[in-house]
Amino acid sequence: MTGGAGNGHWDVVVVGAGSAGCALVARLVDAGRRVLLLEAGADHAQPADFPAVLRDATRLGAVGPGSPATWSYTARLTAELDHPVVRGRGVGGSSAVNGGYFVRGTRADLDGWAADGNDLWSYDAVLPSFRRLESDRDLSGDPAHGGTGPVPVTRVRSAHPVADAFAGACAELGFPAEPDKNADGAPGHGPLPMNVADGVRVNTAMAYLSPRRGSPDLSVRGDTVVTRVVVRSGRAVGVQTTDGVVHADEVVLAAGAVASPHLLMLSGIGPAAQLRAAGVEVLVDAPGVGADVTDHPDLYLTWQPRHELPVLPDQLPLASVLNARAAGSTGSGDLEVLPWLTPFSQVFGAPGPPAREDLALGLALMQEDSRGQLTLVSADPSVQPRIEHRYLTEASDRRRMREVVRLGAQLLRTSSFAPLVAARTGLPDDALAEDRALDQWVRAHLATAQHLAGSARMGPDGDPGAVVDQHLRVRGVVGLRVVDTSVMPRVPSRGPAATAVALGERAAELMTGG
Ligand SMILES: Cc1cc2nc3c(=O)[nH]c(=O)nc-3n(C[C@H](O)[C@H](O)[C@H](O)COP(=O)(O)OP(=O)(O)OC[C@H]3O[C@@H](n4cnc5c(N)ncnc54)[C@H](O)[C@@H]3O)c2cc1C
Repeated sequence: MTGGAGNGHWDVVVVGAGSAGCALVARLVDAGRRVLLLEAGADHAQPADFPAVLRDATRLGAVGPGSPATWSYTARLTAELDHPVVRGRGVGGSSAVNGGYFVRGTRADLDGWAADGNDLWSYDAVLPSFRRLESDRDLSGDPAHGGTGPVPVTRVRSAHPVADAFAGACAELGFPAEPDKNADGAPGHGPLPMNVADGVRVNTAMAYLSPRRGSPDLSVRGDTVVTRVVVRSGRAVGVQTTDGVVHADEVVLAAGAVASPHLLMLSGIGPAAQLRAAGVEVLVDAPGVGADVTDHPDLYLTWQPRHELPVLPDQLPLASVLNARAAGSTGSGDLEVLPWLTPFSQVFGAPGPPAREDLALGLALMQEDSRGQLTLVSADPSVQPRIEHRYLTEASDRRRMREVVRLGAQLLRTSSFAPLVAARTGLPDDALAEDRALDQWVRAHLATAQHLAGSARMGPDGDPGAVVDQHLRVRGVVGLRVVDTSVMPRVPSRGPAATAVALGERAAELMTGG
């Protein structure tokens, strides 16, 4: 345990030191609140204390099976396909293990949340939080950006041949340049903002907690698993942990989009029939808990390089991204293509000699119409909820997934990219040519971007699926909030990490009357 506050009285107990949780806690402490932060995984006080595998932004080295830095779940992507789902475990949460892609949700995303009755979350309302959280090292003088915030944001200007070829391919196909992915422009191709500084993945615990260690108002307890919220007479009074009960005036769940709805259900807040069937006493019948899950279905289009490609020193695996609108779409871009610059054996495995292996384009649907579901199956907190993504249930999603696969294949065929490509691997020409065959190929190769959101979403009075109001207060229980990607009405049309941090910032503002 670090921090000066010992076991005294807590204004707020926060469960989960992840992307949103760390930002929230830091800003509450800055506002003079006494905060206890409980984290199931390991605590590391200073950036240098984090294991190399979590610091090293050139790899995603901590997400494999059995990693102590992750929770490992099994999810059902479609009726036929199971897939592992991981979440970060330890201070920093998923920001400590993720890809470091740090792109804001767009104006269309946030104004869409506002249009659903959450006007405190419009783009203009959240923009100050996006600015406050960052030190944009490329654009700090720009009015849309912050220059002094805790999270360093940089764009890689990569000289890698794949990055160059991809830029050329996007231009050839007529996609506009989008030089600042964190500005309010039209979707296109551009350099990827990343929360990386000098090769280090700067997670939210490094950015927000490390500078506040030693504050008398902050205590961080690692290796402490919360198993439910303690509710008395309709008010949250604390949490049950594996070590006993902790009391506080207010409880915030920031445990992520799987664990927060799971904790609500274990505490008796969820769909009544489902809770009863699992043997949990019902406190609040809240049908929206676990419902309306959104994510980014994705897959990889692999290709074999014609020549061995250089592995540049300290090469980050990602450098640029294309966001594009599917046919008939008008929003901020519902398709995404991410060129990987290094083979997956190096990205996910041990560093080793460069191998001449297939490379991949990541292809994702960024605004799915299908909705997934988390279901409580046991009153035992150690049993994971059933996770069903129900990807591609809607025909509009199947159509757009075909479109993004064809776009990926087209990019590889451009005169800019083709000289690097010996062969497209994995996707046969006949599957590409015919819709039914392509649907089948997609279903067999489908994966997930690991961007779960919406499992305890916000919404106005009268919205039966809304678990929290727009102050993120759980309906039906006083003194209880959820502050993480669970509350997003829909996953943003960019990776959710930056928006999760902004959510923590904005929630602190709302909790302290800002
Ligand atoms: C492998 C991977 C790669 C990703 N790559 C990217 C990317 O490059 N860009 C991007 O935008 N998004 C990415 N994401 C998604 C993004 O990182 C997450 O959506 C975001 O970080 C979630 O933030 P959060 O605050 O909701 O939860 P988290 O950051 O997951 O934090 C939840 C915290 O709560 C703790 N916790 C959970 N249960 C309990 C309990 N019972 N008791 C105590 N503590 C508990 C967890 O251990 C964790 O520390 C990736 C995710 C993963 C898993």
